[in-house]
Amino acid sequence: MVQNVFETNQAELAAWFSFPLLLTLFLLGGVPAAALVLLPVKKIGRPIPTLLWWLMHIVVTMTLFAAITLTFYKDYASLLRNNMQIKDQVLPFNVVRNTHGYLKRKFHANAQLLRAVARDATRPTADAGKRSKLVIVVVGETARAQNFQLNGYPRATNPALSTREGIISFKHVSSCGTATAISLPCMFSRLTRSQYNDVRAATEENLLDILQRTGVSILWRNNNNGGCKGVCERVPSENMPEQKIAAHCVNKDGTCYDEVLLDRLADRIDKMQGDALIVLHQLGSHGPTYYERYPPAGKIFSPTCDSNQIDKCSNEALVNTYDNTLVYTDGMLSKTIDLLQSYSAQRDVAMIYVSDHGESLGERGMYLHGTPYFIAPDEQTHIPMVMWFSPEFAQDARLNLSCLRNRAENDAISHDNLYHSLMGLYEIQSSVYHAGLDLFSACRDR
Ligand SMILES: [Zn+2]
Repeated sequence: MVQNVFETNQAELAAWFSFPLLLTLFLLGGVPAAALVLLPVKKIGRPIPTLLWWLMHIVVTMTLFAAITLTFYKDYASLLRNNMQIKDQVLPFNVVRNTHGYLKRKFHANAQLLRAVARDATRPTADAGKRSKLVIVVVGETARAQNFQLNGYPRATNPALSTREGIISFKHVSSCGTATAISLPCMFSRLTRSQYNDVRAATEENLLDILQRTGVSILWRNNNNGGCKGVCERVPSENMPEQKIAAHCVNKDGTCYDEVLLDRLADRIDKMQGDALIVLHQLGSHGPTYYERYPPAGKIFSPTCDSNQIDKCSNEALVNTYDNTLVYTDGMLSKTIDLLQSYSAQRDVAMIYVSDHGESLGERGMYLHGTPYFIAPDEQTHIPMVMWFSPEFAQDARLNLSCLRNRAENDAISHDNLYHSLMGLYEIQSSVYHAGLDLFSACRDR
């Protein structure tokens, strides 16, 4: 949460502002503070004795505190060791401790040189005279698996994808984190969820660096509030909200609908030679302003919750609004496939969509996301993942799609698989590549 506070921006912040918030701050903060200021303060006596008196108070209190703590040291030590979350629950200790920790890690990360990863990586097939590959990875935002029609949700939240040929929806996918700041770097890092460490991930090359080094053309297009969290730092990137494209960027806070990611994308693709990878980073279903994630025509389910005060809306309205964001994403993904298909005569094309984390919509009294992973509910960690391959792609890559469909239906997979699966798709050879985590390796025809 401290990391999120440091890395947020105006648009994300604006989504939280409301009159009731200001009123609450005024009544519960401003008024008591004013009352304290107006209270008459007893004049202190001579400064030195007063100061000594005050210091003595502190010393005596601390001594008593230490004496009590040491007497029960064994109990406190085991309590803290067995309940590590306690130190994150004591105010203001948790805020101070985690702010210090964040700044320290940030400082360490900035002070370190970038470590090369997979120096040995080669792409032997790069010049083999094959058709070039074009893969679009759509990184979703806050989409949860439970509300995907493709995964059995009873509402039509995937009206476009569910009628398309060749869509493969992975049903048991878990995220690396419950917030973008963790999931996004983790997805493109060789570190698995259990190994993940933000300083390590930030100070070593990620998948995009390695692909780029082996000659794959990369483009990162961003429409997310939070930016790319350092992942796109060394590859060509475009921040779409900055371009203020009128057709898609209508919100007062400067955010854009996700179809902005496809705006004149064909021009970019035309300039990319050889094998290419494009990452489209959505704003997806980011709350609390779900209603701003789709245009008025996208109001499929109603009534909706057209406010950032989601606690004031009925659960029905909240879910309707959230589901509308998924319908919009569904249409955007379908248009992405349309665009890819227009290149299928010349290139082998594929789309991989995967969300960064899920969302709570009031289950067990929880909303939004960012709950510490070990207590996070399924709604925040169970994410949708959808793939589509052109028939030529599947054929040239010897992908057995019915095997893949079977894996999608039955196997538990996670963000850990993305890194090695993409390495596998681009036929990277490296000691870092781990075939066991490559979703496609067991589904290749010999
Ligand atoms: Zn996110």
